Amino acid sequence: MDFQSTALPTELQRLNKAHLYLKSLFWSIPKSENVSNGQEKFRQIPSPTLSGYNKRMQCILLQPPFTQLNAPYPAIWYLDRFLRDRGHDSHPYDSSIMCLRSIFSAVGLRAIFAQARLVAGTKQKQQNTVVRQRIADYFRQEDDYCHSIEAICAYLSGEDPGFAYRLAVGAGIPSGMRTEAVLGEAGGIQIDDAPALATAVLNDLSDFIRGTVDSGFETVRYAERIPASASSFETILNAVNNSWILQNFYRPLLDDIFSRHPRHDSEPVLVCLSVPFPGCLAAAVMAAQCARQHYGPAAIIILGGGYVSTELRTTEDQLLFRNFDYLAYDGGYGALLSIIDHVQSKAAKAAASAATRATPTTPAVPTALYGTRWLDSSGLQPSVVPLQNPVAEQDPDYARQFQHYREKENQAIAEIHPDYRAADFSQYLRIVDSPNPMHRLWNNTPWLKYRMAYGCYWQRCAFCDTQLHYIKHYQLTDQSRLLQAMEDAAGEHKLYGIHFVDEAMPPRLVRSLAAINRSRKRPFTFWGNIRFDKSWTAELCAEAAAGGLVAVSGGIEIASGKGLQIIDKGFTLNQLLVCLANFKQAGILVHAYLIYGFPGQSHQDIADSAEMVRVLLAEGLIDSAFWHRFILTTYSRLHGDYKAGSCKNLQPLYPSGSFAENDLGFQGEADYDPWTAVLDSALAAWADEGQTELPLRHFMKGQQSTRLPTPRVQALKLLREAGVI
Ligand code: SF4
Repeated sequence: MDFQSTALPTELQRLNKAHLYLKSLFWSIPKSENVSNGQEKFRQIPSPTLSGYNKRMQCILLQPPFTQLNAPYPAIWYLDRFLRDRGHDSHPYDSSIMCLRSIFSAVGLRAIFAQARLVAGTKQKQQNTVVRQRIADYFRQEDDYCHSIEAICAYLSGEDPGFAYRLAVGAGIPSGMRTEAVLGEAGGIQIDDAPALATAVLNDLSDFIRGTVDSGFETVRYAERIPASASSFETILNAVNNSWILQNFYRPLLDDIFSRHPRHDSEPVLVCLSVPFPGCLAAAVMAAQCARQHYGPAAIIILGGGYVSTELRTTEDQLLFRNFDYLAYDGGYGALLSIIDHVQSKAAKAAASAATRATPTTPAVPTALYGTRWLDSSGLQPSVVPLQNPVAEQDPDYARQFQHYREKENQAIAEIHPDYRAADFSQYLRIVDSPNPMHRLWNNTPWLKYRMAYGCYWQRCAFCDTQLHYIKHYQLTDQSRLLQAMEDAAGEHKLYGIHFVDEAMPPRLVRSLAAINRSRKRPFTFWGNIRFDKSWTAELCAEAAAGGLVAVSGGIEIASGKGLQIIDKGFTLNQLLVCLANFKQAGILVHAYLIYGFPGQSHQDIADSAEMVRVLLAEGLIDSAFWHRFILTTYSRLHGDYKAGSCKNLQPLYPSGSFAENDLGFQGEADYDPWTAVLDSALAAWADEGQTELPLRHFMKGQQSTRLPTPRVQALKLLREAGVI
């Protein structure tokens, strides 16, 4: 449940790494009826919990805005399956896509244009002539935007294929900077470019919203930079209070969802909010506030997800805990079970006490909360239940409870797979915002997302958060249950495309899935994260491709022998090249994650790594890539080594404040600043435009970058020596 960690190391954010005036006017959730009704048909298996408190609990699971547009983020669908299997009354809502569709609706756009006109006067003073002209162009085309938006979204969701021809003709289709770029000098498109043009209209609107009514808005994230830089939770609260989009689109949506689920008597209502990325945090805060207003103290508000598990692991910000009752870490199953037991046992005890006016005979309230952080009853500091070393040694009962939840967590990690049967795939948009085939694959297909394994089977890369549970706890999932979940979703939605998220797919599980898939009447098509290690032989790649594997994404990080060594990537440059060649020979698309600015990495090594990337793209050994600036993190192996005294040259800079604490700085990191623009522009030209003939020095024309070294590595020679060209 991400509550899991599809989050930080992988996925789209690595690539680039909404009240209105009349609430139900701006969006409707006809499909949410399907959600509720759909759930009735699924089995519910009550199972006893540790303390015997097993009341059916009302649970509302929300994916706050904004995540990827093409498919549901899996967290709430994992959780929903888990809670329903235990007999709870679970209601999952992907409020991210619901909110986005309300924004990109005729009524939504009218409201946005109205607000934009209101604020236009105050903003004009800060805008230059070009921007003012651009804004005026939007206002001039307001009717075109409002008339075409729903047809454009219907087209991108696969509902109205014929609209492609309207897009190609272009009459009545509004135009901004993004659409002009797609139209090009010819001023028109071929029919195959219709998805790109439709996407560009949404991106133009996104620019307009950001430039007028809400600077935090992006279609796949909201105000992402604020959590990254905030030293206190108050900054996040201010962002929520000042967000026109969240206040006017998300707030009425939340009111509608919560009013669909009134609380029964004084029964608690569990509200689970998944924050896989920092760009979902502001909306999660609003959801928590809204839940509190609807349910009062009966709302048990739990915040989880990859961002929470990584960045809020040791937070001591008390304001945060006035908005959320619990933070749940890692898989989240153990945390949820322990919280439910704790809440229900406390309620039972209070009820028994009120009924008998005597000492209650109900069992003791479980004291062990697993994988959870909450505000201590004394109101002083958040209390922490350590994940590995509870008070167990002194308290056998505590130890028994803790062990119970740990076992349940591990069991669920293996057995629970997201159940998408109640998801509404008609709402998701097939985005095409890049000519690169690998980037297109990422965004233009409604993938069903699953996890093949939890944690990493390598666990040693120096830059990686290897001290965190979702990396260091390696556990395979139950493949027969996984296949059943895939089968169920395919049967419901007629979707056979699978995206395996989170950490690397283990090669042997890919082999067995491919073999099973080959014998299926209707095989699945799949892709996912991998490690470029030597297990990927030519034979395995061919077998995997024949069994449905179409693309892989994985970390090269530093494409030099020395670089791979200093980060302890676990394969040599030669092994990497052979592995890439094996994938290419099998016809499998490859995306590479790259980093630069690792402490101690020389400028020459960055230049050589970039040159190797250029040649890999030129030779078709990789199809796309993305550079990440190295960030030192608290839970990385490198920081662990520093703490152990074995990294004498590293000088971490610790953040001040009580909020997110995982990202650290280090002495000397600014030395790598000039590389950001160089590497980003080089990669855009090489991977998106196919201009691999342009050398790295072509992109070093800025003042800051003139002192950067040019590559010395003879990349082609290394490829020949590896026997891959
Ligand atoms: S392969 Fe390396 S970077 Fe990837 S999850 Fe494992 S340890 Fe982390």
